[in-house]
Amino acid sequence: MRRPLVAGNWKMNKNVEEARELVSSMMAKLNEINGVEKVLCPPFVSLSTVSALLKGSDIGLGAQNMYWEEKGAFTGEVSPAMVKEFCHYVILGHSERRTYFGETDETVNKRLRAAQKFDLTPIVCVGETLQQYESNQTNEVVARQIEFGLADIDSAFAPRMVVAYEPVWAIGTGKASSGPSANEVVGKVIRRALRELFSDKTAQAIRVLYGGSVTASNAAEFFDQPEIDGALVGGASLKVDEFVAITKAASK
Ligand code: PEP
Repeated sequence: MRRPLVAGNWKMNKNVEEARELVSSMMAKLNEINGVEKVLCPPFVSLSTVSALLKGSDIGLGAQNMYWEEKGAFTGEVSPAMVKEFCHYVILGHSERRTYFGETDETVNKRLRAAQKFDLTPIVCVGETLQQYESNQTNEVVARQIEFGLADIDSAFAPRMVVAYEPVWAIGTGKASSGPSANEVVGKVIRRALRELFSDKTAQAIRVLYGGSVTASNAAEFFDQPEIDGALVGGASLKVDEFVAITKAASK
């Protein structure tokens, strides 16, 4: 049985004070929801504050990215050890990182191997662009992202990884995929690619989330699918009632 997971990616939103307010207003409600792993991913500058607020709760904390080198002359970057000081999770290879900051399967893989070394639970994002979707390349693009992005990972660590299937055309657009189509990509493409990299047992153990315009009104459609184990939520994770309702839907 794969335990459902709902993660909120705040992206570049909320300053420290606003982060404190948002967490304070959703924490008690999230704490009441059982049977689902809950994760908040605020910007780096709020990790310390949010980590202190979450002490004693079962809500996890994640970073939105990290660099793979351990220290040194890498101005503007944040190391795995720095993330590990506050977080248990880290989002890697988000499509916004790939599109605006030049990340590739190769650099996502370096980050993933750093997450393994530092014992962080990675949430690795994959997904096709609109153009790739329209030219029927979804399966090959997503399979390649898994094959190269998740290469050279120890079989003992592999089940710890979380994959988020996020069609780029669905992120922040209000045009979510449908439960059945997302389920098909996860079941037929992602789990198959995972099986080829690891084993059938590991492919069945790795949690695969859906992400892309998930809201309180469409969340159940995704969570009802047998291959989908939760959601990576962007915009709706900034709204208390929406995020709480999505998390509740995943616990059912
Ligand atoms: C995301 O940022 O990963 C995401 C899925 O965003 P949104 O829910 O806003 O589409």
